[in-house]
Amino acid sequence: MQFTPEKYNIEDKSQHSFIDVKEIDQLLENTHSTAENVRAVIAKSLNKERLNLQDTAILVNTKDPVLIEEIKQGARTLKEKVYGNRIVLFAPLYIGNKCVNNCEYCGFKASNTEAIRKTLSDEEIVTEVEALEDNGQKRLILVYGEHPQYTPEYIAHTVNLVYSVKKGAGEIRRVNINAAPLDIEGFKTIKDSGIGTYQVFQETYHPEAYKKYHLGGHKKDYHKRLTALDRAMEAGIDDVGIGALFGLYDWRFEVLALVRHTNHLEACYNVGPHTISFPRLQDAAMINKEDKYIVSDEDFTRLVAILRLAVPYTGMILTARESKEIRKEVLRYGVSQIDGGTKIELGNYSQDESQFEAQNLNKEQFKINDDRSLADVIDELLDDSYLPSFCTACYRLGRTGEHFMEFSVPGFIKRYCSANAILTLAEYIMDYAEPSTAKKGWEVIAKQLNDLGDYQRVDEIEERIERIKNGERDLYF
Ligand code: SAM
Ligand code: SF4
Repeated sequence: MQFTPEKYNIEDKSQHSFIDVKEIDQLLENTHSTAENVRAVIAKSLNKERLNLQDTAILVNTKDPVLIEEIKQGARTLKEKVYGNRIVLFAPLYIGNKCVNNCEYCGFKASNTEAIRKTLSDEEIVTEVEALEDNGQKRLILVYGEHPQYTPEYIAHTVNLVYSVKKGAGEIRRVNINAAPLDIEGFKTIKDSGIGTYQVFQETYHPEAYKKYHLGGHKKDYHKRLTALDRAMEAGIDDVGIGALFGLYDWRFEVLALVRHTNHLEACYNVGPHTISFPRLQDAAMINKEDKYIVSDEDFTRLVAILRLAVPYTGMILTARESKEIRKEVLRYGVSQIDGGTKIELGNYSQDESQFEAQNLNKEQFKINDDRSLADVIDELLDDSYLPSFCTACYRLGRTGEHFMEFSVPGFIKRYCSANAILTLAEYIMDYAEPSTAKKGWEVIAKQLNDLGDYQRVDEIEERIERIKNGERDLYF
């Protein structure tokens, strides 16, 4: 079914949802994977052709370990061929955990009366941002529970506040948000505050499963959440992030639904999601996990590879919910952004570990599995020859749709992304890196400069690196 903005009135709940459960169920049931059709789908993706739902069903239905390995190899090849080795770094900043909803899986749910509820004061936000800047962060995602206190005006206020904090060489150059769905007016308000990406996850795209996990509060309305990004687009926010919480329902269904959501946004608004997230359910206070849908490491790594092949021009975000070993593996399949130095307990970026233990036991939403500092994450990325990047150039130059350009415009990555990654890494080295990390960083930069070929004038980048060494900041192409 094709959707167009005219045909699809997002305010009208009587319209069919763009998620057709029957269609996805039938594809999952009736699609048979053979060596021939799996290889044909991988080849199609490597040929830079978009995959449809049927192609994706062929990949998720594969059971043969040899073919699964070929899918992973396909994702690795696509990543190397198209994206190179940049990894963009960010950190989440939890602003408030008050919540009227009762999502079964979340430590912030209203019924969890043991959770300590807190909203950071303006002073606390400033202190937290200063601590994040002291570590070298340049990109944040602000996270909020759903509560009458977190109005669009309040969210816009916190975004502006974060942008205003400058400490030493530190500044936050891109603020993304993860907040409950708003109406069109609300989205306009937060757009005006200069957000980067607005991100909201459907959690599960299966309406029946959704009902089961969302018993109270506004979030129980599946359709309102499903159409959140349509309203964001209507409000002029064309930079949106989608996601599913893996572990609530059959992962294969969620993968197909994410592809369908991507196609829907592209068909209606001519721009697909900027990013796709695939958080995997973690332990949280009072959680009651349904074992049959828990996603194993094997299936998780496989689904990341399948998503890479299916939506090759969308950024992929992997968070510290996953262990450093899993992160290391799936980075190779084309993840483009990871968080580093993450703390999800409210107010903990600016506290030392002992205060944190004593005061904050019940302020986190779930457990994370990678608690390394940003410095350690960067150090390991450099060891593995990745190019850590804090680039925010496209967003600030109004170059939207950069993932699509990366994918489709020859030389775009080397000309802009690699060059800017090099410059932001040079800044990080000058301002924050330990000597041993700095040494590795300059080596990676030298190698990158060597690999740029004709697409970007190496002398121009070298000249800017010299300017950075002499104290200039925020240089980009
Ligand atoms: N309250 C807003 C909402 O629900 O959209 C935004 C913030 S919520 C804190 C961000 C995301 O965390 C949720 O969309 C959900 O996918 C994820 N999350 C919640 N509980 C989780 C858990 N136990 N394990 C992993 N991720 C979880
Ligand atoms: Fe509230 Fe979001 Fe947690 Fe649901 S996932 S309980 S809406 S914070």
